Amino acid sequence: MNKKPGTVWFVGAGPGDPDLITVKGRDLLAQAGAILVAGSLVAKAATGWADDKCEIADSKSMTLEEIIEWLICAAKEHETVVRLQTGDPSLYGALVEMSRPLDEAGIIVKAVPGVSSLMASASAAMESLTLPEVTQTVIMTRVAGKTPMPEGESLAELAAHKTTIGIYLSATLADTVRAQLLEAGWAQESPVVVVHKATWPGEEKIFRTTIDRLPATLEEEKVAGQAMILVGPTIGARNWPTLKKSKLYDPAFTHRFRDRSK
Ligand code: SAH
Repeated sequence: MNKKPGTVWFVGAGPGDPDLITVKGRDLLAQAGAILVAGSLVAKAATGWADDKCEIADSKSMTLEEIIEWLICAAKEHETVVRLQTGDPSLYGALVEMSRPLDEAGIIVKAVPGVSSLMASASAAMESLTLPEVTQTVIMTRVAGKTPMPEGESLAELAAHKTTIGIYLSATLADTVRAQLLEAGWAQESPVVVVHKATWPGEEKIFRTTIDRLPATLEEEKVAGQAMILVGPTIGARNWPTLKKSKLYDPAFTHRFRDRSK
């Protein structure tokens, strides 16, 4: 009798620090019979949660087809299989390309969220991505590399909203980032934070620069990958002389959890 295949879990490992995986993700690693890590970015230490008998492989040199085949074979052998992805699996992680063939093979597929590098970078730099009456919106995007940007999603078009923007996958394209932000009307001296290897133990670096100086800063500091470029009207607010306070903490403001009359 054929055994029912196991479940393949796409687990977000978080941005680098192995402690930033969710409890659910950690428990799945401990239960897993097989784990396939995205070696280039996921800290190997995350696999430290796995059982001694667990089969662990790195997909670094695998094609998409080979990854899928590996996951299908592993699901035929083991009840719990983990594909460990960097950050959150729903962002730039080929989740759909990998899960569709598994669906076709009749394998149950589930995902567990992870701390995305944008959130990790904001924490590392002690920046708030939103501020009352400054911006209440965050855009997660990239500029075109090998992957083109769909119509209407160029950085210049998105940046016209003047919100916070987390720019992924673009550290080697700083000239394009600069040109498109300027095209959208941002001032040359607008602050930019670049976080390289956010939360990687002993390797995290934070660079503060301006839109104009962004390409030069990345070149001088030799930042060529694994970097988040953070721009927006809240950057540096920690050191502003004055700040509009959040209504949430205003004593005159009553909300669902705090009745002013009491
Ligand atoms: N799914 C991941 C993103 C994968 S795309 C996530 O949610 O974070 C890879 C890009 O993510 C890199 O080019 C870089 O822009 C960003 N990135 C990943 N890890 C990072 C880290 N520790 N610090 C800064 N940026 C990181």
